[in-house]
Amino acid sequence: MRFGPLSRLRAPGDSHSSRTREGTRAKTLAIVAVMDREAPTAAPPRASGDPALRASGVGTPRAQGVDTPRASGATPALAQWFAVKAEQPEALIFFRMGDFYEMFFEDAELGSEALSIAMSFRGEHQGQPVPMCGVPHHSHEAYLARLIRRGFRVAICDQLETPEQAKARRAAIIARGIVRVVTPGTVTEDSLLEAFRPAWLLALVEGGAAWLDVTSGAFETEAGADIPALLARLEPAEVIATDGLWPSATPATPPRDAPGRLAAAFGVSTLEGFGSFSAPEIAAAAMVLDYVRTTQNGALPHLMRPVPRGTAGVLAMDAATRRSLELLRNERGDTRSTLLHAVDRTLTGAGARELAARIAAPLAERSAIAARHDAVSHLTAEPDLRARLRAALKGAPDMARALARLSLDRFAPRDLAALRDGLARADAMAQALCPPLPHLLAPEALRPPNSPAAELARALAETLPARLEDGGVVAPGYDGELDALRRLRDDARGAIAAMQMELAQAWGVAALKIRHHQQMGYLAEMPAAAGEKLLRDPPKLAGEYAPQHRQTMSSTLRFTCGALADLDRKLNAAAEQAATRERAIAQHLRKLCLAAAPGITAAAAAMAAIDVHAAAAELGWTRPAMTDGVDFTITQGRHPVVEEALRRARGPAFVPNDSELSAGSRVCLLTGPNMAGKSTYLRQNALMLVLAQAGLFVPAEAARIGVADRLFSRVGASDDLAGGRSTFMVEMTETAAILNQAGPRSFVILDEVGRGTATWDGLAIAWAVLEALHDRLRARTLFATHFHELTALAGKLPELRLATMRVREWKGQVVFLHSVGVGAAERSWGVHVARLAGVPRAVLARAEAVLAALEARGRQGGGALSDELPLFTPRKPEPEHPVLDALAEIDPDALSPRDAQEALYRLRALLDGSRAS
Ligand code: ADP
Ligand code: MG
Repeated sequence: MRFGPLSRLRAPGDSHSSRTREGTRAKTLAIVAVMDREAPTAAPPRASGDPALRASGVGTPRAQGVDTPRASGATPALAQWFAVKAEQPEALIFFRMGDFYEMFFEDAELGSEALSIAMSFRGEHQGQPVPMCGVPHHSHEAYLARLIRRGFRVAICDQLETPEQAKARRAAIIARGIVRVVTPGTVTEDSLLEAFRPAWLLALVEGGAAWLDVTSGAFETEAGADIPALLARLEPAEVIATDGLWPSATPATPPRDAPGRLAAAFGVSTLEGFGSFSAPEIAAAAMVLDYVRTTQNGALPHLMRPVPRGTAGVLAMDAATRRSLELLRNERGDTRSTLLHAVDRTLTGAGARELAARIAAPLAERSAIAARHDAVSHLTAEPDLRARLRAALKGAPDMARALARLSLDRFAPRDLAALRDGLARADAMAQALCPPLPHLLAPEALRPPNSPAAELARALAETLPARLEDGGVVAPGYDGELDALRRLRDDARGAIAAMQMELAQAWGVAALKIRHHQQMGYLAEMPAAAGEKLLRDPPKLAGEYAPQHRQTMSSTLRFTCGALADLDRKLNAAAEQAATRERAIAQHLRKLCLAAAPGITAAAAAMAAIDVHAAAAELGWTRPAMTDGVDFTITQGRHPVVEEALRRARGPAFVPNDSELSAGSRVCLLTGPNMAGKSTYLRQNALMLVLAQAGLFVPAEAARIGVADRLFSRVGASDDLAGGRSTFMVEMTETAAILNQAGPRSFVILDEVGRGTATWDGLAIAWAVLEALHDRLRARTLFATHFHELTALAGKLPELRLATMRVREWKGQVVFLHSVGVGAAERSWGVHVARLAGVPRAVLARAEAVLAALEARGRQGGGALSDELPLFTPRKPEPEHPVLDALAEIDPDALSPRDAQEALYRLRALLDGSRAS
């Protein structure tokens, strides 16, 4: 067996055939190796002889795929399967066979289970039946989506040639190879992506991280990354990491010449122009690029230059803080009842992604924040402009994602249309924006240089087919040559009709019809009787028109003749040429778009930013005054999520509250019963800070906020039993992080810290933490507690201010006013709250008695800090009648009539029993 250049193994017109990148070559070579084994006459494997490949290590592992004991004795097709499996051992292999993608062996077991499809067996391998399951090629995307969502990676192994081509080179089997590895972080199909979330692929190395979004081209790095914080902030779709750095990540190794490879990917000789990167950042960036390249069969999507993100300029929040503030996800892990959900009025997927990114990483630099506020202010003051911009945004296509598919040459006609329409929308927005404008609303970016919009508008047909192969993408009149070919094709169709008449006459068969057949092309068809007559008694005609019998069916006979065959060929050629021409035009349009890619990306980003600014203005909230000091003054602030929930429940309105944590009163100690609104108040202030620094407006009448560098939020006694740490351990670990990192510019909210341990322990810890925050760290702090004893600190800590949730007692019931007042809570309302919660009456009565006893002891000077816990002193047995005891246990409200009757009998029996004894 002999073959020429490797690219010949691919079907002509296969878009990969022109690639010469290393990845493609490597994959193609794997196929060579497989086929070499299949055909005993094969030439020596080229992989071993190619010095370039040996140097890069490519080629070696692939040979193992077929040499392992497991693969020995495999049929040619299974040998191919073993080879691709060895190439992508972590992935499920979608192995193309005819109209199906088949999975074999362990993949079949996993796949059939994950997709709930039947598993069958196909042939035997080493004496065992081979498990197999498959999905139809035409609907494989839906199955792919389910697998990706379940966390699988899928390698698509396609047929790289037609059966005819395989036959022509006398191969035993069609060449197959991996054309793409689909992983959660590298997908580009809309069906596999969430419109409102970025799909970050994160690479971690010791001392650095890099992440990119294949679908938008965004690419960032960070040195010395705090991994949990980064994971919480990005919520990556997929993580790759050097071995052992992150347990669940795909293991990877940075390439040897990381800087060189990174520079080469961006077509520059040195990275210096991009900013300053640390070596680990470069290693991570090169590693993530390499990974993308492997999954895309050597291709790279359009990417923006990597930006060293650093943590400067960003409000630092650790994972625990994000969790407790429910910024993008709530405690249950979904997106409802989150800050993002409450404030999101964006109209586009790109806008929603940008808003989420801003909330996940608020700024920490006053001028940058103020610039965003300027944009929101402008759009608040100009409702007409805002309406025009939002009209243009509504329904605007996702240009960033369309561009990603174009750059990977995996596009559909609608992606070209997305750029045409998106750029038209951008232009409409630019026209609406008249100076003077704040600089974030400058219209320049909306009109990219050498925009392909006009060309696309001319080139694309009015209604577009779903796939390029369907034809009809290019509008008539755009390309003379295509028009001519189409005319030829259409003329030939007319010629068929003419020929039908001609043949009917010449052959003397009125019922003759010319029909097209998938395999045999155009044939003249006639009823059996007429056909047999024609066979018996052929008309005397010139060779061109002499009937040639092709096929006998049950009721019809099929004929052709020289002229018809000729026409068939011409028609095929014309259709084929038209399709080829159309593909070429589509590629030309794609190149135009890619040439303008940076400008289009910038326009898409500008639209997303305007979407965010206009959405923020839509809320009608208040611009916070930002300062470089340690101010924090909020007038009538609200909690956006709780407020919305109350509104939806049509319950009582949200009660706004003020806050003052500026110099002189940096620390606020908030007391009050459970359910009074302490947690809500704490969080609403933290959220106000997040919103303000994200560049959004805040739900308050007025706000004056000094920019914070770090935000901490802690809730006592959050359980992490699954994580293997006791509640209290978690609480203390999280608290330790604050004490080690907070500083005078930080903002801290602590909710019931110390709750996770025994009373005096917890009190002691809360006490010490509060003192440290006040004296040493000097952070702005809101501290909610149910330890009344802490209010004793008020006299000792000059900057400590006491606040309490106001509560009123009404007919023995507690009424929460949800408003924050000065001072400390007078008493605990725990027993009242227990009643609200439905604790049985008997228990409540007992609790009230114990409480009264404790209060009496306290008044007698027993000392609240006595280490004898009166709760546990045994109750003196009171000589009471057993019937009374039993009666006291009964809660009449909780009894059904039948229970009541039974209780009565029981009491009576008790009474009788005691009298008898
Ligand atoms: P605590 O932390 O003191 O136990 P929460 O902050 O959890 O109390 O609040 C309990 C409930 O009270 C909330 O779920 C909410 O329904 C209501 N609430 C809290 N703050 C307010 C407010 N400012 N206005 C109206 N209702 C409030
Ligand atoms: Mg609470």
